[in-house]
Amino acid sequence: METILFLAHTESDGTLARPALEALAGAKWLAGALPGSTLAAGFIGESTQPAAGQTTSCGASRFLSVTGPEFGQSRYATDAAAAEALCRTAGATIVIVPATARWARSLAGVAQRLDGRIDSHVTGISAVGGKLVVSRWYYRQRMEAVLDRTKRPWLILLETSVFPAWSGEPGSAPVEAVAVDLPDSAKRTRFVGIRAPKTDEQTIRPDANLLFVTGAGWTKKQSDGQVHLADAAELILGFLRKTQSYLGSSKSLVDLSGEGQVVLPFLTHLNQVGQTGSTPRHPKGLATCCHGEEPHVVGWRFINERRAVNLDPNCGWARGKADVLYVADAFDVIKKVNALLAE
Ligand SMILES: Cc1cc2nc3c(=O)[nH]c(=O)nc-3n(C[C@H](O)[C@H](O)[C@H](O)COP(=O)(O)OP(=O)(O)OC[C@H]3O[C@@H](n4cnc5c(N)ncnc54)[C@H](O)[C@@H]3O)c2cc1C
Repeated sequence: METILFLAHTESDGTLARPALEALAGAKWLAGALPGSTLAAGFIGESTQPAAGQTTSCGASRFLSVTGPEFGQSRYATDAAAAEALCRTAGATIVIVPATARWARSLAGVAQRLDGRIDSHVTGISAVGGKLVVSRWYYRQRMEAVLDRTKRPWLILLETSVFPAWSGEPGSAPVEAVAVDLPDSAKRTRFVGIRAPKTDEQTIRPDANLLFVTGAGWTKKQSDGQVHLADAAELILGFLRKTQSYLGSSKSLVDLSGEGQVVLPFLTHLNQVGQTGSTPRHPKGLATCCHGEEPHVVGWRFINERRAVNLDPNCGWARGKADVLYVADAFDVIKKVNALLAE
């Protein structure tokens, strides 16, 4: 018999964001899959009543909260104290938590205080023989491990896109306030603001249907012997605006900015896909002006339908890495595609 606690921090308006609702779906599924288990929900934030209202019909038997201005922003000391209090009050044996940066930073310490165990980057939960098992990847998505544990409480940081976001009728669940006595030493760190990478365009869209990869070819001399950076920027941004794709990049292209060259200003290392970049999950991918070398393509592990546009018929994509390679000038192709999309 497990007591499952779904633990989430609220957003500035007191509601839950999508990663939290996905984790809630996971916690609810687990409560149904483990016979005799119960589900509780615990919230942390400056305000938490909207989150309780949002999740009233999720099937939780208790709604607990640590609320107050001290808990509005991410801070290790206050987040850990609040999470510890919620886990203890719920008597949680399994804690399902969305893998946000805020929780990734504070939850290992909570596991230590509770004499429990924690697993991060969990990409699957299932019930085998009435017991919970979790899966996660190792060695940059090359090996998948399936783990179980006897030690409790077991804290699980669940990655996004594992479960569809939970949704249900809103209401007004009664919330039990959990008091946390914070010493002054827990409030020393102050939140001063968010510093985001310099981009004037939203290009990171994890939910997009298409991964659109740009490679260093966009910045190279073209058939007329000239570099066409302004055209490249316009074509790429035009395509992104029309398709709402996720903008991925090769390492060579994002590195150019570090070498002091004039490059596409909306690209940062956040866009880099590959061995030393990200491994995004989108149903489809289109690579343009990118050679398709192994350290890059390893980041396409979860992309099912792959296409590439390259002038070189012997590029990496032609060697079994793409379903379709268009041997063509990407400037021409994307110009034409943008015109068709505009229609
Ligand atoms: C340890 C290590 C880790 C690495 N990690 C990563 C990683 O995480 N991600 C990553 O991306 N790379 C990584 N790399 C680098 C990787 O090996 C390649 O160097 C890089 O991916 C090449 O980038 P690119 O294809 O954009 O550039 P290039 O190799 O310069 O290719 C440019 C391509 O553009 C094409 N092109 C030019 N003009 C046009 C046009 N008009 N139309 C169509 N095509 C055109 C050319 O034919 C060429 O194929 C790593 C390397 C090492 C050693």
